[in-house]
Amino acid sequence: MSKVNLAPTDCAEDSVAVPDPASPPLLDLTGCDVDDLNQAMTAHGLPSFRAKQVWRWVWRHGLTRFDDMTDLAKPVRERLAEQMMITRPAITSRQKSTDGTIKWLLRFADGNEAEAVYIPEDDRGTLCVSSQVGCTLTCTFCHTGTQRLVRNLTTAEITGQVLIAMDELGEWPATHDGRRLTNIVMMGMGEPLFNYDNVAKALKIIMSGEGIGLSKRRITLSTSGIVPEIIRCGDELGVNLAISLHATNDELRDVLVPINRKYPLKTLINACKNYRVLSNARRITWEYVMLNGINDSDDEARALVKLIKGIPSKINLIPFNPWPGSGYERSSDDRIDRFAAIVMKAGYASPIRTPRGEDILAACGQLKTTSERLRKSQVKAITA
Ligand code: SAH
Ligand code: SF4
Repeated sequence: MSKVNLAPTDCAEDSVAVPDPASPPLLDLTGCDVDDLNQAMTAHGLPSFRAKQVWRWVWRHGLTRFDDMTDLAKPVRERLAEQMMITRPAITSRQKSTDGTIKWLLRFADGNEAEAVYIPEDDRGTLCVSSQVGCTLTCTFCHTGTQRLVRNLTTAEITGQVLIAMDELGEWPATHDGRRLTNIVMMGMGEPLFNYDNVAKALKIIMSGEGIGLSKRRITLSTSGIVPEIIRCGDELGVNLAISLHATNDELRDVLVPINRKYPLKTLINACKNYRVLSNARRITWEYVMLNGINDSDDEARALVKLIKGIPSKINLIPFNPWPGSGYERSSDDRIDRFAAIVMKAGYASPIRTPRGEDILAACGQLKTTSERLRKSQVKAITA
């Protein structure tokens, strides 16, 4: 899959533009990895050993002003500020649910918007991060799927969601005890594996030990099943994998998750069997939305168990989160419990995902912004 530069991108030669056409664009450090930063320092005649110090200020201390980088000499700080910037997306709105979930609607340099959601729990705090504005895919039960793809998010726009949450949760320095943001799930708007390059770069930055240092074991990437990129993701990132399964036969999955027509269940299951980092401690999560009368029978629970046989797995049953005009209903609590019992009897952990932030439309599949969609030709370029 090729990287598509539909938006301002992150690094040296093509960073987010500043309005003045006379001066060259500033390099946005929030979209740079260590190599980019090293290169930029050298290119601008700055000593490259300073890159480590700058990196730490940005990713460990959350600074946004070069002037605050106190261990750099003033002329170096001034030089950096002339060439580089450290951005955050603008916060259009911030809503807090009665259950503590926080949803941010974030606006990027070109006016497009995406959402990020923080979900606090007793033993962890999870940030649900978006990878695209809208989604090219059209899973029929998903609200995001009704918003056609606007564009891929850049690396800086993906890391920016994490930075905003860290700022707001008081997480700096990132090494402090009692972190509130302990996990990241790529489960917000969009299909992360259709924006692989930017997502991978952002996750590597977030995992960097000199910065936020989040372990790959605490990051989960959820995909509707883009088979070639699943393999890459295991090899290159080694993060946890969640598959939006939702059906146990091609006939139904073709309808619920239409990308199944391109990558049917057999090829998907095969890719999952070979996912690099699998072990009993690192299992695949199968996400299964519970749709009343559609995919929630006892027979389907048994078919599910059969389908994933031999793969270290846990099953995440997601009660359908309704949205206006979806045409689907959530399965009853009784039905979900019976389905879960069959799966558990077969030896699989089967937590039922408690809907979070429903009152602020922050639950799975409810995210949607009003950003305008792409032209058809651009969508084709991204999904090719
Ligand atoms: N595009 C990726 C990640 C974002 S969706 C993917 O599809 O995996 C995150 C999860 O929410 C997916 O499992 C998705 O199928 C599920 N989901 C979407 N709409 C939902 C809804 N209305 N109710 C419950 N879960 C939903
Ligand atoms: Fe896109 Fe995921 Fe929603 Fe499907 S479930 S439309 S892949 S965001």
